[in-house]
Amino acid sequence: MSTFFEDTQKFVKEAVEAAHIPGDILAKLEKPDKVLEFEIPVKMDDGSEKKFQAWRVQHNNALGPYKGGIRFHPQANLDEVKALAFLMTLKTSLAGIPYGGAKGAVRVNPGALSVREVEELSRGYVRALWQEIGPDKDIPAPDVGTNAQIIDWMADEYEKLLGHPAPGTFTGKSLAHGGSQGREPATGFGGFVVLREFLNLGSTNYQLPTTGLTVAVQGIGNVGSFFARSLLRDTRMKLVAVSNSKGGVYREGGINIGAAMKNPKDLSAIEGSRITNEELLGLSVDVLALAALENSVTEQNAGSVEVGIILELANGPVSYGADVFLAQKKVHVVPDILANSGGVVGSYFEWVQNRAGESWSEEEVLGKIETVLEEASKKVLGYAREKNISLRYAAYALALERVAGAMKNAAQSGVENI
Ligand code: NAD
Repeated sequence: MSTFFEDTQKFVKEAVEAAHIPGDILAKLEKPDKVLEFEIPVKMDDGSEKKFQAWRVQHNNALGPYKGGIRFHPQANLDEVKALAFLMTLKTSLAGIPYGGAKGAVRVNPGALSVREVEELSRGYVRALWQEIGPDKDIPAPDVGTNAQIIDWMADEYEKLLGHPAPGTFTGKSLAHGGSQGREPATGFGGFVVLREFLNLGSTNYQLPTTGLTVAVQGIGNVGSFFARSLLRDTRMKLVAVSNSKGGVYREGGINIGAAMKNPKDLSAIEGSRITNEELLGLSVDVLALAALENSVTEQNAGSVEVGIILELANGPVSYGADVFLAQKKVHVVPDILANSGGVVGSYFEWVQNRAGESWSEEEVLGKIETVLEEASKKVLGYAREKNISLRYAAYALALERVAGAMKNAAQSGVENI
């Protein structure tokens, strides 16, 4: 099976056929601008010292400062970080926000560390690369395994090293430390907006029911749970299945979203039949939202998928091989760089507020995210129809064209981007 990194390269290669990208610019885009690789020493609670492997990959900044989350995960590796950084470049470009793409990671299981050890690791990450980041240079955020508390520690460490406040260097901070209302639900809510827009604009070869549209969510974590909650905004949609890493629940008549949201880590109290994650993937539903990790649907299990639409809320949950197979089965895959871009758009609005010294309401932030994502969804669907290509290739091609345009302009004006 190919890796997530190899699959991202294959998706880009095919999208390039639809986009108009000069060869020299493509060659430059295929490599990240900078790869920082380092070890973070942490004094453990038992007195020993442990070193954790860490990375920051700055992929491209033709459209603005590098932007991307930091992941704490036991299987994190450089190839994965490179693929995620590339996807960030595409995501920010597609959303039309003034950022480039980056990603960071530490190979660690944060759940196995004490709170003090996680704090030391988070501060250590910043001590290793603080000169490479900043509000106009590279703006990190949380990702899998990291949260607002970790980002608060990182922001605090950065300002200590810098010697003065630097709001807007990190996004995804807690509200008490300059975070934004609406940042937490942003990704899940954004996924809902994209899905709704796709349904409203209609699709050519999939007849969706006008009411009782059934939805299953794999991975009811941060993104999955806010997506599920957002479904309550549209009476056409009915949540029928949810899962987490331990397994899932299915209920034909609909899952009580409020009950599921009370404790997404323990689904045992939710009314419905217990199902495995494989069974969830095989459910015959209208929409399957994938909100866990990459490579959930691969060539091995794509044959059992019986849905009309897959919404990629996670990054890279459908492998390249599965994508080819699903396209033949006429399953519409709404790609990650559109479906989960509410997160980075929300981050952008946090950064704007920090720089302007303002604080907006959740309603205002979500309203702005909605406008950006409706626009991006319309563009992707329009392009897919015009060129008769999948939503994924339309999204990638549009994103690549915008970055390539900025790189070309910079090269012509002598600015150092290419
Ligand atoms: P999270 O850790 O809060 O949630 C992940 C969920 O997936 C958890 O419920 C976990 O139990 C579940 N899970 C793990 N393995 C599973 C499996 N094999 N089967 C079913 N469920 C499984 O993480 P998150 O922040 O919600 O992020 C989820 C995905 O969305 C990641 O790919 C992340 O990169 C992507 N994403 C997140 C954001 C954001 O704002 N948090 C933004 C863009 C993209």
